[in-house]
Amino acid sequence: MRILLVEDEPDLGTAIKWALKQEKYIVDWAQDGAEAWEFLQAQWMQYSLAIFDWMLPSMMGLELCQRLRQHQNQLPVLMLTARDRLQDRIAGLDAGADDYLVKPFEMEELLARLRALQRRSPDLQTQQIQLGPVLLNYTQRTVYYQQAAQSVLILLTNKEFQLLEYFMSHPRQIVTKDQLLAQLWESGSEVGSNVVAAQMRLLRRKLADQGCSDLIETLPSMGYRLNPDYV
Ligand code: CA
Repeated sequence: MRILLVEDEPDLGTAIKWALKQEKYIVDWAQDGAEAWEFLQAQWMQYSLAIFDWMLPSMMGLELCQRLRQHQNQLPVLMLTARDRLQDRIAGLDAGADDYLVKPFEMEELLARLRALQRRSPDLQTQQIQLGPVLLNYTQRTVYYQQAAQSVLILLTNKEFQLLEYFMSHPRQIVTKDQLLAQLWESGSEVGSNVVAAQMRLLRRKLADQGCSDLIETLPSMGYRLNPDYV
C-alpha cells in the first residue's frame, strides 16, 4: 500500500516515514505543498492514503486537500496540525480531510488512525485476498499458505510482501519489472530492474520453501504473472 506523506519538519517526517515503513507501507515523502502536488498529479492513482501537515511551505495542507477534492479525488487524507481550535478542526474537515490529528501525537495513534481510514475507504475495504491456497491479509500484513488441512504463515520482508500484494491485486495481468519498480519503490530511489529481479527471487524462494513454487510465473522477455491456475 502506497502512502503520500507531506511534512516539512525533517525530524518528524523521518520518524513518521520510519514508523510507516515498519508497517510495510511504501512511503513517498514530500517536504512542501508544491512538491506534494507534483507527486499527486504524476501518480495519484497509486496512493491509497495521504498524510498532510497543515502548515507547509509553498502550499498549505488545507489547500492541497481542497485541490484534491476539486479534482473529484477521494484519496483518504489524514491532516496533521498543531492548531487545535474548534474552528481549525472544522476548516480541516470542511476542506475534505477525513481525519485530523493534533501535534504532538503518539506514533501508535497515527498508525491506528490510518488503519481506521483504510477500513472506511470503499476502495480499501477488501482486507484480504485469497487466490488458490494463498491468503493475504492487508490489515494484518500476513500471508498464509494452506496445505492439506494446515495453514502455514509465510514470513516476508516488507518488499516481498509488497510484491506479493501487487501480484495478488493484479491477477491476470502481465507485470513488467519497470512497472514493479514504479509502483513499489519510492520515487527517486536509484534502484534498477536487477533489484526487482533479486527481490522476486527472494519472494519465490520463501514461497517455494513452503511448497508453493509455482505461484508466480516468468514470461520470458515480458515480465511476470500470477499462475492462471490460481486465479
Ligand atoms: Ca509544518
